Amino acid sequence: MKAKTKKKSDKPGVLLMTRRTMKYVFLTAWKEKKLIFLLYFLKFIAGALGELKLLLLPKLLIDEVVALSDGAALEMHLNNAIFYIGLTLGAEFLSRTLMNVANSSLSYYSVYLDRILNYSLSEKSMSMDFQHTEDPKVLDQQTKAKDGISWYSEGITGMLGALYDVIYNIALMFASVTLFIFYCPLILPVQLIGMGLITYFNYRSQKIATGAFMKLGKLNRLFGYYLYEVASQKYGKDARLYDSSDMMSRRADEFGQKSVDVFRDRAQGECKYDYRSNIVNAFRDGISYFYMGYKTLQGALSLGDLTMCISAASRLYQSLLGIVKALRGLTEKCSYAYQFLVYLDYPDALSKGNTPVKDGEHEIVFENVSFKYPRAEEYVLKNVNIRIKSGEHLSIVGLNGAGKTTFIKLLCRLYDVSEGRILIDGVDIKEYSAEEYRKLFAVVFQDFQLFAFSLKDNVAMGDPEAESDNSKVEEALKLSGLYEDAEKLDNGLDTLLFKSFDEHGTELSGGQRQKAAISRALYRNAPIVILDEPTAALDPLAEYDIYKKFDTLVGGKSAIYISHRLSSCKFCDHIAVFSDKTIKEYGTHEELVNREDGLYAEMFAAQSKYYVDATA
Ligand code: ADP
Repeated sequence: MKAKTKKKSDKPGVLLMTRRTMKYVFLTAWKEKKLIFLLYFLKFIAGALGELKLLLLPKLLIDEVVALSDGAALEMHLNNAIFYIGLTLGAEFLSRTLMNVANSSLSYYSVYLDRILNYSLSEKSMSMDFQHTEDPKVLDQQTKAKDGISWYSEGITGMLGALYDVIYNIALMFASVTLFIFYCPLILPVQLIGMGLITYFNYRSQKIATGAFMKLGKLNRLFGYYLYEVASQKYGKDARLYDSSDMMSRRADEFGQKSVDVFRDRAQGECKYDYRSNIVNAFRDGISYFYMGYKTLQGALSLGDLTMCISAASRLYQSLLGIVKALRGLTEKCSYAYQFLVYLDYPDALSKGNTPVKDGEHEIVFENVSFKYPRAEEYVLKNVNIRIKSGEHLSIVGLNGAGKTTFIKLLCRLYDVSEGRILIDGVDIKEYSAEEYRKLFAVVFQDFQLFAFSLKDNVAMGDPEAESDNSKVEEALKLSGLYEDAEKLDNGLDTLLFKSFDEHGTELSGGQRQKAAISRALYRNAPIVILDEPTAALDPLAEYDIYKKFDTLVGGKSAIYISHRLSSCKFCDHIAVFSDKTIKEYGTHEELVNREDGLYAEMFAAQSKYYVDATA
């Protein structure tokens, strides 16, 4: 029973996907741009005038011309003919004008509405739980969502346009059928059987197209990664130094070829069904024309009626084909865009609470915490227990891979513990509101990132106060020791980092970047500050200097420092030594350094010879 439910929700049918997607599309369009519905109405009027010109007016005109040639009531028929010619010209002019106005406005609003979808996508990507960002399944879904709302579905107006086509063609079909009911009712069954067959062939063809799209999500991401992303500046140095361009092009070729295969299979499958549709159509035309010609020769239809019926046969077929194609287009576009809704609804990995965080002091407690990364087999941390009192400065040391950063990630709730609990002020951190909880921390990770924004924006991160007043940013830069360098930049604090968007952008040195990241943490003024070895690119003395200075700045706040240079932790209240997936030693520097056979004592002795003089 459970498996059945899962299957159902994993793979909703085309109709369900279309319904849900169109609901979203309607609500978004209605909320953001109601005018768009008026534009479709104008299009409809324009189309109806065009059909009037094609179907009805030629019949009326031909009947008048034939009557003229008979010679009776000449003046009346002449006036009528002139009137119908005028009506034809008027309908043509009005139809084209309205259609142009509607189409050009729609193309403008389509860009506007598509940007709204892109905002939602980006918002979701930025707010989703961190662990999703390294889950290949989520990343594939993200690619499908991006493709699904762009050129695959042609966005909101692409889908509304397809629905409009369905409605328009249904109206056209009813108009044509009404004409046949009055003039040639026996033709209808031929048309209906033709429609049934063509609908079926199109349905099969669409299944092939949707299947191809599902396969392309991952292939496109891999292709894009090898061809474009690794060529970006981020990977530029490593890619060049390790001369990996051949390998990358080879891989890109492989994935590119696989995509081509998917497209080829799709084209072949679709071609087969298009061919069958064409044969059905040829029979439909032949039978209809033969019958109508026969009725005209019998005198049951006038010449004008025959012209109209021929046009109606063609319009009926066009409308049936139009309905099938538009329905196929609509369901296809909606199936693609549905991937965007799946992405927006991607469930949170972490449970979200709503307990507010209290002001004042904060005590952190790890209670028997064990953790393994999602999709990993091995525990990274096992039975970690520690209490960090409010205002305490804790140093975390240990060899690479001992789990120090993971400890911080758990504390910041980038992941949830696998076993045990983390408490802050006696409350399990899962119960706190995520937004408020995050405000407790200012963290500088080892792999911190600066953005291609101005230096000021990198520090203040959109704080409105910094818009009009630079003093807080300057203060933070002074504290980290970057202010003097910042003053020398061409545009001072407004200088853009990196050259991605401005050739005058600056490339900070490794040390300057770290200082910028530290300024960002200081600016945030959070009650718990964490430095996770962001100073690895600095020499030991500079690192010591920063940690020491940082420690003074932090003052009475709680602070956690990770460094593999032990001298940087001497001034902390306590030191926790991580080894064998847990905290192996815990105490003050004095206690640990004097512990016989202690890990810390051993590490300290090995390192102290490099810089003991400077830090003593
Ligand atoms: P440290 O900070 O002490 O160097 P980490 O906490 O970064 O150690 O890593 C501890 C272990 O967890 C390592 O074996 C590492 O490979 C693994 N690890 C780190 N991040 C991830 C991740 N996102 N997914 C899976 N394993 C990870």
